[in-house]
Amino acid sequence: MATATTKSKQRSIKPPKVKDQPLFIGGKWQDSVSGKTFPTINPATGETICQVAEGDKADVDLAVKAARKAFEEGPWPKMSAAERGRLLNKLADLIEAHKEELAALETLNNGKPLRDSLNADLPLVIKCYRYYAGWADKVHGKTIPVEGPYFCYTRHEPVGVVGQIIPWNFPLLMQAWKWGPALATGCTVVLKPAEQTPLTALRVAALAQEAGFPDGVLNVVPGYGPTAGAAISEHMDIDKVAFTGEYTTGQLVMAAAAKSNLKRVSLELGGKSPNVVFADADLDAAVEGAYFGLFFNQGQCCCAGSRLFVEEKIHDQFVEKVLKKAKAQKVGDPFDPETTQGPQISQEQFDRIMSYIEAGKKEGAKMLCGGSRIGNRGYFIEPTVFSEVKDEMKIAREEIFGPVMNILKFKDVNEVLRRGNQTFYGLAAAVWTRDITKAHRLANGLRAGTVWVNCYDVFDSAAPFGGYKMSGFGRELGEYALELYTEVKTVYVNLGG
Ligand code: ADP
Repeated sequence: MATATTKSKQRSIKPPKVKDQPLFIGGKWQDSVSGKTFPTINPATGETICQVAEGDKADVDLAVKAARKAFEEGPWPKMSAAERGRLLNKLADLIEAHKEELAALETLNNGKPLRDSLNADLPLVIKCYRYYAGWADKVHGKTIPVEGPYFCYTRHEPVGVVGQIIPWNFPLLMQAWKWGPALATGCTVVLKPAEQTPLTALRVAALAQEAGFPDGVLNVVPGYGPTAGAAISEHMDIDKVAFTGEYTTGQLVMAAAAKSNLKRVSLELGGKSPNVVFADADLDAAVEGAYFGLFFNQGQCCCAGSRLFVEEKIHDQFVEKVLKKAKAQKVGDPFDPETTQGPQISQEQFDRIMSYIEAGKKEGAKMLCGGSRIGNRGYFIEPTVFSEVKDEMKIAREEIFGPVMNILKFKDVNEVLRRGNQTFYGLAAAVWTRDITKAHRLANGLRAGTVWVNCYDVFDSAAPFGGYKMSGFGRELGEYALELYTEVKTVYVNLGG
């Protein structure tokens, strides 16, 4: 674990001043072809931070051309795998050297508390680049004993030019999850950051340039989804698209990929993850974990434990403890080291979350705390807890992506297993119990890409992450992610005789 940055150190970190931002294409910093720009907003105030060049189809075309050229010509395809690893390590070193600057920029643009960007996001980002630096020269094929006078082997080749479309909730981390394996395997990249949070992606691109990645290997085209994003998913010269976002957008990306050139697709989509607390659990640890599992990052996590099943016997005691925590939450200026909850990302998300809170009340769930806006600028929402939530309610079925906890009661293992799986999502799940049999029954029975037992939101670059069902497909992180960025080629060599 990186040592946590102290509060006094955090106090010295101020919101940075940011200049207007260009696109990054073929190693050049340039305006968009249309000349258009869009404002990027500080969600803590609702004010514009700066203007960002607005990429569209024409800019994506230029970026793809640059990425194709870099994939086929110049230093990148000639570079040894070990050298690619060295560049990735150098990028990790530069990010580490600029850790405070990047954390402050992330907090300014995204609103997450500085203590989280510094002590959670940045260490994970740095470790992710280092992890994939280590893989670069360890990606290789097999020799296969086939019949006949043939020497047969496989090559794991880079898939080619990859388009990557990422969301706003963990901008730096999602970039690292996508760039790490793509660069380790020798691909070239066109990245579209979310329109809400383009700033850190551009800063990391500048650091990658400083690290020595050849021109065109990395291109960053900020812009909107239906324009720049769609231009990536339907592009005829992009070999693969990796997407993280809402499942409805994932469906558009996949349809566009299918209709254009059948580019490879990997999708990491939403979730409505069951978090199951049995009566025999360590109650305080379960409360802590359930609270963190929902409220971390202002509730804006695709794997948030947003269906919290609590065994009937301990329900009231559990609720009491959770409420105490909700009341202690410090919501406010994300640069204040005491703050534990910042603003939601945007007016749009704010409105959406408030409409879910209204739906919860209307459908008869019991709102135990929260439910209102805080202050009159920025997008702050009180931590909100509902009990008496029923499976069929909207708040129990749909992804809220905000600081709204839904508590459902259950009586026994079979029931909670059945109800836990009653969702079209399958990203994550968790179980809290001291009974090893129950723990394993749920770990095996819950249809989700990650199951946490007596913990929540544990992530490691070495362990895969991804969804079942409509939470997407393909696994990011770990060795598994390398498969998303490689093609397997089989070679037969006739040895004669
Ligand atoms: P969210 O609601 O969390 O913003 P989205 O799925 O809308 O989730 O956004 C995730 C990413 O997908 C963003 O970078 C966004 O710009 C992009 N995006 C949105 N619409 C499209 C689209 N039609 N095609 C490709 N990308 C899109």
